[in-house]
Amino acid sequence: MSRLVVVSNRVGPLTDTGRAGGLAVALVDALTETGGLWFGWSGEISEEGSFGNLKQAGTRKVSMTTVDMTQADYDEFYAGYSNKTLWPVLHYRLDLAVFDRRLEDGYRRVNERFATRLRPLLEQDDIVWVHDYHFLPFAAELRGMEVENPLGFFLHVPFPAPEVLAGLPNAATLVRRMLAYDVIGFQSRRDAANFRRFVVEELDAVETGDGELAVGGQRVVARAFPIGIDAAGFARQATTPEARRQTGRVEKLLAGRQQIIGVDRIDYSKGLPERFRAFGRLLDDYPENRGQVSLMQVAPPSRADLDAYAEIRRELEELTGNINGRFADLDWTPIRYMTRSFTRRALAGLYRASRVALVTPLRDGMNLVAKEYVAAQRAEDPGVVVLSRFAGAAEGMPEALIVNPHSAEGVAASLQTALNMPLDERRDRWQAIFDRICENDASAWADSFLETLRETGRQRAG
Ligand code: UDP
Repeated sequence: MSRLVVVSNRVGPLTDTGRAGGLAVALVDALTETGGLWFGWSGEISEEGSFGNLKQAGTRKVSMTTVDMTQADYDEFYAGYSNKTLWPVLHYRLDLAVFDRRLEDGYRRVNERFATRLRPLLEQDDIVWVHDYHFLPFAAELRGMEVENPLGFFLHVPFPAPEVLAGLPNAATLVRRMLAYDVIGFQSRRDAANFRRFVVEELDAVETGDGELAVGGQRVVARAFPIGIDAAGFARQATTPEARRQTGRVEKLLAGRQQIIGVDRIDYSKGLPERFRAFGRLLDDYPENRGQVSLMQVAPPSRADLDAYAEIRRELEELTGNINGRFADLDWTPIRYMTRSFTRRALAGLYRASRVALVTPLRDGMNLVAKEYVAAQRAEDPGVVVLSRFAGAAEGMPEALIVNPHSAEGVAASLQTALNMPLDERRDRWQAIFDRICENDASAWADSFLETLRETGRQRAG
């Protein structure tokens, strides 16, 4: 089988330290199967940047090859266009996006530079799989360097409705450059349909069925490949000594009371202030929960240097203070809000100790926490997921309680339903979701994407 080349901003780790996400595990499996190369940023900033030496690490079967960035690359490509322009636009937040020609130029430059460094490492039979919004135009750069290999792309974040994306300056040019990929994968059917509609409406493409688009003699497959987790592996994590220790600590503290858990990087896409308000609403509208039900929110900061992120932190601190001040009792604190992070193994234990997972992003590509929570439950006494309709995960988890995260009243009502759900119903709903996430796990996801890419590559060559 042809060698796999993976391109992503961050590279590795190759071994599962309990920190590695399901994504890294799935990619390492796929890379190990055929032998492979994983290419991306070293995480280092230097004066030479991508003109410096290639850095090599990895194993005999899987080579991790990285290059540095310059400070300007980091500011313009990574912190700039990727995180201040594309991230908000792709999450439907045109109001938070920064539009600056300098950032756009930096994004284009780093894509071109990285492609230039990868080009000589490519072998004739390789298939190339590029990941995420940092590298939307990467294939166009490679094709400009006479690369004929099958090129696939997977977008981990949402793809917005065309009406939103059209607000991004030069959106049509950017999307046109994406058409250099053979296969473009999205987290949900909605994202894939949004992409196809943009290409049809703005770039005069024609849909030829089964997710295929024909545009100016080119064919592109744009389909949903919802990402999975290593469900069986995560379920095992939940019974490790470290996870048990965390479960025990929380259960002791709860002393028979119930806990709702939220786990999210602090980000405006996660709907955290809305979530805290909805929990306050639960205590207002259903007073029997006072003294009985608490919310544990794990919220490690991300991109703390951006204003929009500092603003949410302030808001969350204020909301926590208000709600705790209003409802706390001598032996009960309503919201336990922690900005520290936990290992995934420890999280597995926290999930197990929680009767409800509250997953209410305003937009989310998939949301792996929802799946991890399910994988970590005890089959004989599982908890309930309250899930935003705007998370990609909602398409594959209809047995969760699906909510509109903007409605505090609606989320509070669903929380009340979840907290009072009879054991039989909890088991039925959990089993249906658990079976599905085991079947559609991370390796099934990688296999199905790569199979489609190989097939499309064969057709193009033929
Ligand atoms: N996570 C973690 N420690 C924490 C908080 C989160 O390891 O303290 C992990 C979590 O287990 C999940 C990932 O971070 O695998 C978050 O993925 P998700 O898709 O939910 O959101 P993202 O951060 O990618 O937007």
